[in-house]
Amino acid sequence: MSGKDFILALDQGTTSSRAIVFDRDGVAQASAGRELPQIFPAAAEVEHDPVQIWQDTLATGRKALAKAKVPAGQIAAIGIANQRETTVVWRRDTGQPIHNAIVWQDRRTAPLCETLRKAGHGAMIQARTGLIIDPYFSATKIAWLLDNVQGARAAAEAGELAFGTIDSWLLWNLTDGANPGLSPSPSHYTDATNASRTMLFDIHRQCWDRELCALFNVPMNMLPEVLDSADDFGVSASELFGTAIPITGMAGDQQAASLGQACFTPGMIKSTYGTGCFVMLNTGAKAVTSQNRMLTTIAYRLDGQTTYALEGSIFVAGATMQWLRDGLKIIDAAPESENLARAITSTNGVVMVPAFTGLGAPYWDADARGGIFGLTRDSSIAHIVRAGLEAVCYQNRDLLLAMQADAQNVGTVQDLSLDVLRVDGGMAENNWLMQFLADILDVTVDRPHVIETTALGAAYLAGLQVGLFPSLEAITGQWQREATFTPAMAPDQRNALYTAWQEAVARVRSDAHKSVNTP
Ligand code: ADP
Repeated sequence: MSGKDFILALDQGTTSSRAIVFDRDGVAQASAGRELPQIFPAAAEVEHDPVQIWQDTLATGRKALAKAKVPAGQIAAIGIANQRETTVVWRRDTGQPIHNAIVWQDRRTAPLCETLRKAGHGAMIQARTGLIIDPYFSATKIAWLLDNVQGARAAAEAGELAFGTIDSWLLWNLTDGANPGLSPSPSHYTDATNASRTMLFDIHRQCWDRELCALFNVPMNMLPEVLDSADDFGVSASELFGTAIPITGMAGDQQAASLGQACFTPGMIKSTYGTGCFVMLNTGAKAVTSQNRMLTTIAYRLDGQTTYALEGSIFVAGATMQWLRDGLKIIDAAPESENLARAITSTNGVVMVPAFTGLGAPYWDADARGGIFGLTRDSSIAHIVRAGLEAVCYQNRDLLLAMQADAQNVGTVQDLSLDVLRVDGGMAENNWLMQFLADILDVTVDRPHVIETTALGAAYLAGLQVGLFPSLEAITGQWQREATFTPAMAPDQRNALYTAWQEAVARVRSDAHKSVNTP
């Protein structure tokens, strides 16, 4: 191995950009991160500045290399994990975005989604893309940009614009897309996992779908070419890190986390607790079409072989703690929530449904809004904070029940018992939350040593391509448990709490969905 023993993983998340240098044992050498400002132009609209995203990514990459004291010449490859679905459209000639990025949480395209749903396109879209019609995915966000930014549609028709999710946007810039004069052909690629979240990609045929592009009115010339998750995506411009480094791994953050958790066999399941919460169940070579409003998605594609997953997404998890901190200002920092919750024995009947941006799986109710129920004169900050944490666990139970039902319908995931959940993400550091999760789910919760599984997954992909990691089996051997949380709650108590949650959910759902979308 010519001394190239390290991988630089770039993890561009919703609330922060991080970079971590890993060695060939998957051990982090150093990391750097920056919080990403959120832009809220209107209710239920969320944007990011794409230029800031790129600058932060570059800055954290450089800082992590400096902290690790690893010369760029010893970096075998770069891997990228990214917030998914978030949509950037930029000019090919200047590399300049035409608008802020529209973030996955943004709900401005709810009316268009409603129109498509009413027109009866839902079944066809689910059959091809594995997705449920919702503003969450990129397609309607691209259409919105083309229809609302002056001149954009004409420029797109003329082939002057490029679309990308954040992986493609970073890749374009890493391969010198910001200096079009210097680099005539920056890379315009994405990987199969990111493509599978656009609502324009046929996950069975593994190609952009012409009819879907026509339906959403998205010119196909804007779309990046889709490669495997471990592939040759391009080489970073040498002035960025001091030497040119191949970019050989890309995956959406949840898929990367699933790889970082070594969920390589059918039936393995991981749940990530960051801004949102995402549960992913490996279903192997079979794309399981959910009967319970879960998503079918691509877990990874290696050597042209696709591994599928069932996924449930909750839009707001750690974001509730951010709201309590920045909006209500009743806590100073998210980790404070642990002691507040532990200090009381229950919420005293307070239930929070954090449907700030609608409800995700299994409700898919874009128009629902949040609520706090059961308040009394002695309700305190602790009760509200604890209710915010508990909501994550109840929503997880919603997802697991739906997945269990799907798995039972499918022969290929027979040995699936769903009795162990591998957890990660910033919120998984909250021990009280993890115990309550085990209690409410009635499953064992395993937390690994490396909680930065998203970055690790990106590193694994990049390292697989350049031979630093020999195989998935070798990666499996690196996973190590740090803590286990065993269910200890009496069934009666569990059921009573969960019933109170279900009643609260029924009260926040928008009228249009109350009767149709019961999970
Ligand atoms: P993302 O990758 O989505 O940006 P992270 O995995 O970094 O998110 O997790 C950060 C989120 O987790 C924030 O929303 C924060 O409020 C929440 N969080 C972090 N630590 C804790 C904790 N100890 N208890 C509860 N929530 C936490």
